Parts: sequence; C-alpha cells; structure tokens
Amino acid sequence: MTEVITELKDWFKIRKELNGTLGFVPTMGALHKGHKSLFERSVDENEFTVASIFVNPTQFNNPEDLKKYPKTFEQDLSMLSECNVDFLIYPKYETLYPDNYKYIITETDYSTTMEGEHRPGHFDGVLTVVMKLLNIANADKAYFGEKDFQQYKLIDGMTKAFFMKTEIIPCPTIREEEGLAFSSRNVRLTDGHRKKAPLFYKLLKSGNTSEEIKNELIQNGFIIDYITEIDNRRYGAVFLGDVRLIDNVEL
Ligand code: AMP
Repeated sequence: MTEVITELKDWFKIRKELNGTLGFVPTMGALHKGHKSLFERSVDENEFTVASIFVNPTQFNNPEDLKKYPKTFEQDLSMLSECNVDFLIYPKYETLYPDNYKYIITETDYSTTMEGEHRPGHFDGVLTVVMKLLNIANADKAYFGEKDFQQYKLIDGMTKAFFMKTEIIPCPTIREEEGLAFSSRNVRLTDGHRKKAPLFYKLLKSGNTSEEIKNELIQNGFIIDYITEIDNRRYGAVFLGDVRLIDNVEL
C-alpha cells in the first residue's frame, strides 16, 4: 500500500528515517501507462520510491485547461500501490506555495521557444514547482518523460545550474498501439478526434519536411501551434478541438 502524505512535516520525518536510495516521480495525476513506466523504472533502480500528485496551477496559461484537467485520485492510488510506490506526496496549493508564487524560477533562453513561446509563463510555473518538489523529496534520482522533452532538458539544466543533488533521468515515451503518446488529456478527445490523433506521431516520424507535415495535419482537421526541428529532434504541438497534444521524435 502506498502511504499518502499531505503535510510536509510528515514527509520530512519519514525522509530523515529512510535508509536507502530514493527515486522520485512527480506527476499531475490522471495516471496512465506513461506514468506507470516511470514508477516501474524508479522502483527498479531504488530501494524506495516517492511519487507526487499536484495539478500545478502556475504552469497553466489557459484557465479552461486547468479547470478541465482530469482528476482520478482513487484509480491513481491503485496504480501507485500496484507499482509498489512507497509514498505519495499529495499537497495543497498553500502547502507548496507559502509565498503565493512571489518567488519564480526563470530560464531565459531555451524556455522562450516552442512550448514557452506558445504558453506564456508555462515553464516559469514548471521550473518553480519542480524546484520546490525536488527540494522537498530530496531524492537521489528523479524520473521525467521524454514526451515532454523540452521540459526534461530545462529541468536537467536547472538542477545543474543550481548544483542540486538529484540526478535527472529521462525515460522513453510510452505510446498506444497506433502510436499516440499516452497523455492525461487524451480522455478529453472526442471519438472522431481520437481516431485522427495517431496521424500526428505518424507524420512527425515520417521523412516529410515540417512544412509538408503541417499541411497534411491541417487538411486532417488539426490546428497547428508549431512543428519544428532542433538538434536532430522534431517537436510538435497541435490542437484537436480544444485538446492540445504535444509530441517529439528523434530524427
Ligand atoms: P504529467 O502528469 O503530465 O505532468 O507527467 C508527469 C511525468 O510523466 C512527466 O515527466 C511526463 O513527461 C511523463 N509522461 C507523461 N506522459 C508520458 C508518456 N506517454 N510516456 C512517458 N512519460 C510520460
């Protein structure tokens, strides 16, 4: 059984008494097979694993997206227990933000591209909450998905810039059979959009140019935020209806 902890003082007491390596997997809940792969990796590589569930309001640039973010706490807890995750940190906003977001971590270069360009303030929210969570967890290793590759790179850079002791471990993107990357937001796709969604990954990994990919996606009813190539990797963000999907592939 996973032990659920809501108060930081309770976690700090447990952390002090843990004897062995600790892995950490931060999430926003609505857990799926992508998250599961992170828990399994951490449990495999460490004597103890702690996860967190916190839907971080400061990283949502769109209030509707925050309001509609899926919440499945009971199912999440079952998955954590099945995966043998030892602890879940499940804090309130006031607990993580005693400063009410007056202190902010900003990266000034790479974070202004792609997700950062299209979601103003997003990475400030991500880096700030991850800094807090990494300091709280005080783990040896923390696991992040390559599905959010830009996020992984920024977090890895932050831990190095601030001499943080937790090692950041990237984990491969887990996909449905037809190639759509698992995402908590997928449950909000209509049946029609769900059928179209795998085309996004199929085209990203095709030999087509970014321009060709954009055109084909538009013809199939996608709205494009960006399709772009940086350092041998192709990144994309698209909308199907009001659901935003992101993905990336190594070229
Ligand atoms: P989230 O709950 O969406 O904030 O994601 C928590 C962690 O799970 C992040 O490190 C994500 O990159 C990772 N993640 C989300 N979806 C997937 C996926 N399909 N495959 C691998 N990792 C994922």
